[in-house]
Amino acid sequence: MHDNQKHLVIIGGGITGLAAAFYLEKEVEEKGLPIQISLIEASPRLGGKIQTLYKDGYIIERGPDSFLERKVSGPQLAKDVGLSDQLVNNETGQAYVLVNETLHPMPKGAVMGIPTQISPFITTGLFSVAGKARAAMDFVLPKSKQTEDQSLGEFFRRRVGDEVVENLIEPLLSGIYAGDIDRLSLMSTFPQFYQTEQKHRSLILGMKKSQQHAKAQQVTAKKQGQFQTINQGLQALVEAVESKLKLTTIYKGTKVKQIEKRDGGYGVQLDSGQTLFADSAIVTTPHQSIYSMFPKEAGLEYLHDMTSTSVATVALGFKEEDVHNEYDGTGFVISRNSDFSITACTWTNKKWPHTAPKGKTLLRAYVGKAGDESIVEQSDHQIVSIVLEDLKKIMDIKADPELTTVTRWKTSMPQYHVGHQKAISNMRETFKQSYPGVYITGAAFEGVGIPDCIDQGKAAISEAVSYLFS
Ligand SMILES: Cc1cc2nc3c(=O)[nH]c(=O)nc-3n(C[C@H](O)[C@H](O)[C@H](O)COP(=O)(O)OP(=O)(O)OC[C@H]3O[C@@H](n4cnc5c(N)ncnc54)[C@H](O)[C@@H]3O)c2cc1C
Repeated sequence: MHDNQKHLVIIGGGITGLAAAFYLEKEVEEKGLPIQISLIEASPRLGGKIQTLYKDGYIIERGPDSFLERKVSGPQLAKDVGLSDQLVNNETGQAYVLVNETLHPMPKGAVMGIPTQISPFITTGLFSVAGKARAAMDFVLPKSKQTEDQSLGEFFRRRVGDEVVENLIEPLLSGIYAGDIDRLSLMSTFPQFYQTEQKHRSLILGMKKSQQHAKAQQVTAKKQGQFQTINQGLQALVEAVESKLKLTTIYKGTKVKQIEKRDGGYGVQLDSGQTLFADSAIVTTPHQSIYSMFPKEAGLEYLHDMTSTSVATVALGFKEEDVHNEYDGTGFVISRNSDFSITACTWTNKKWPHTAPKGKTLLRAYVGKAGDESIVEQSDHQIVSIVLEDLKKIMDIKADPELTTVTRWKTSMPQYHVGHQKAISNMRETFKQSYPGVYITGAAFEGVGIPDCIDQGKAAISEAVSYLFS
């Protein structure tokens, strides 16, 4: 190492850490920065929650299956690592909501459950007449008082009433956060809804206007799904990023135990017994693990108190003729008032045709949600039986699946409760005083989606580079 060379250690090889390493290398090459980079990952593989299983011709995502195209950093990373020709959009079929044992088509024009077209809401069987009348009060209700934060439940219940929340908004949101809508923070999840209400007063009219504006801008764009994935599986994105890392020393199967101040920098203690000296560090591991790396730092209490939900994904592969499904759609979410254990199901081979061999049907169900996570502790066999029992209530399944895979994600969905943003910014402010040059980031902070994580990895890099070189 040269005298003036700095050592930056990235901890955690999920998508946040990988994006950080990849974009740091780009910057190093462009600017000729004198820097040594290390990436330390506890497990024997990179990718964190991104994991693809390749079996019998199926491409099964154990964790995330795609990313939103409009959040540009997802597709951009794929392009930057040479995978543009493997980017595919989802097929746009009908999605459903299951309420009280009946599947209802998602009303056309609903954006996260908020109507932007009126007639599909008037005609849908999802809500009672009283529920629809209550939702229509959104047109006349005043905007809410300006507030730093409130729960998603409080906000939406006030605007459109309990029934629309419980039968549509809650099931959609719980698919993303597996959380309790009455505790999740509006400002840390969907601040745009608050901004729309503040600007237009009526949420429905405001959403309608922004949709019209968005449509006018894409008159020539062809209709395609709003999600993208990699047709070789998201694991291919992880592998492509890894293969591009030329300047980074990667430690796999190596856990960081602790980070302590040392001689104008930091000692990064590894479970191998080795300690690496770092001038700066970017910590991207799950929040529980970040907390344990700084045992003497009282300012990280929020990370200790933050909760995470446990979920499991269950993939089931069938011979096509063994599953008769009268609903021609891509999947459904389930309201809490239905007597089902699964929270959602994707007809994966319809949404993503590349995921199953010809003549096969691939379904992926989700179990586990805030307040109801015990199912995740059951055996694979029990979970698969529960899932099949639920699925048989809505489709005709004539034979057992020829392939089943259960993937548990214990305490893996960080919950952004009311006040999250402020707590994170106060915590970072305090932490900066104690550990200048160490940046804590990732899915527990400013967005759980893959593009949010990529953005956070990039943001940490620019902070670290300016700390080290300006
Ligand atoms: C079931 C499921 C479905 C999802 N679906 C989607 C989806 O469809 N689209 C989407 O955009 N997002 C989805 N998400 C969210 C998204 O996958 C995650 O938020 C994102 O992948 C997290 O990336 P990360 O790098 O911040 O963390 P992680 O992926 O958790 O990576 C952190 C890494 O740190 C490592 N680590 C932990 N402790 C240590 C230590 N002490 N030392 C060194 N390394 C350590 C871990 O092994 C891990 O590899 C889903 C999440 C789950 C669980």
